Amino acid sequence: MAFRFEKPSGWTFKAGQAMDMTLLEPSETDAEGNTRAFTIASAPHEESLMVATRMRDTAFKRVLGTMPLGTAVKIEGPFGNLTLHNNAARTAVFLAGGIGITPFRSIVFRAAKEKLPHSMFLFFSNRRPEDAPFLEELLTMERENPNYKLIATMTETAKSHRSWNGETGLINWEMLSRYLKNAASPIYYIAGPPGLAKGLHETLVKSSVDDDDIRTEEFSGY
Ligand SMILES: Cc1cc2nc3c(=O)[nH]c(=O)nc-3n(C[C@H](O)[C@H](O)[C@H](O)COP(=O)(O)OP(=O)(O)OC[C@H]3O[C@@H](n4cnc5c(N)ncnc54)[C@H](O)[C@@H]3O)c2cc1C
Repeated sequence: MAFRFEKPSGWTFKAGQAMDMTLLEPSETDAEGNTRAFTIASAPHEESLMVATRMRDTAFKRVLGTMPLGTAVKIEGPFGNLTLHNNAARTAVFLAGGIGITPFRSIVFRAAKEKLPHSMFLFFSNRRPEDAPFLEELLTMERENPNYKLIATMTETAKSHRSWNGETGLINWEMLSRYLKNAASPIYYIAGPPGLAKGLHETLVKSSVDDDDIRTEEFSGY
C-alpha cells in the first residue's frame, strides 16, 4: 500500500534516501512503538512524499492504513546513502525483492526526469506479477529513458492469475550475467528485507564482485 503526504516546504532529500515516520497520538500502539523507518518511494521532483509498505497486522500499520485523509505525522531525516553514484561511466545495477523496490523507484524516476546518462539495470524479484509494487510504471519508464532496463522475475507464477512472459526464478549470477555482459564496471545496489539483502550480497561476493562495489540497505524489521 502506498501513502502520499504533503511535502513540508523547504524539506529536501536525495532519491534513494529514507526517513523516520512517527504517528502522532495513534488510536493504538504496541511494543515496537509509533515510529518506523521508510524509504521515500517518490522522486525529489514529484509533488508528494510517498512511502510504500507491506501491510501487516501491526498496530502501526493498522493506524496508518485507516487514519483519515489529512492526518499529520512527524517525519525525521532524510538519511541513508543508497543514492546513485556520480560517475556515469559506471553501470548501476539495482537488485530488489518485493517492497525493496522503494529506493529504486525514486532513483529511476529521478534519472528519467533529469535525463541522467547512467546505464541502469533494475532486477526486480516477486512471487507473482500481482504482488509486484509499481511494476507497470517501472516498465513504462523504459520508454522515457533509453539507458534503463527493467528485468522483472517471478518466483511463483503457478499461483498467479495473470500470464507472465518474463523471467522466472530467483535472481542469481547466471541471470545477472546474461544481462550484464557489456556492463561497464557495475556498481550494485541491494534493498529489501534482511534475508533477501544478505542472500543477494552473498551471491555477488561469491561471484567475485568486489565488496567496494556493493551498496546494501537492509529493511530491518522484516
Ligand atoms: C533504512 C530503512 C528503510 C526502510 N524502508 C522501508 C520501506 O520502504 N517500506 C517498508 O515497508 N519497510 C521499510 N523498512 C522497514 C520498516 O521500518 C518496518 O520495520 C517494517 O515495515 C515492518 O514494520 P511492521 O510494523 O510491519 O512490523 P513491526 O511491528 O516493526 O514488527 C516487529 C517484528 O515482528 C515480526 N512481525 C510482525 N508482523 C509480522 C507478520 N505479519 N509476519 C511475520 N512477522 C511479523 C517481525 O519479525 C518484525 O521483526 C525500512 C527499514 C529501514 C531500516
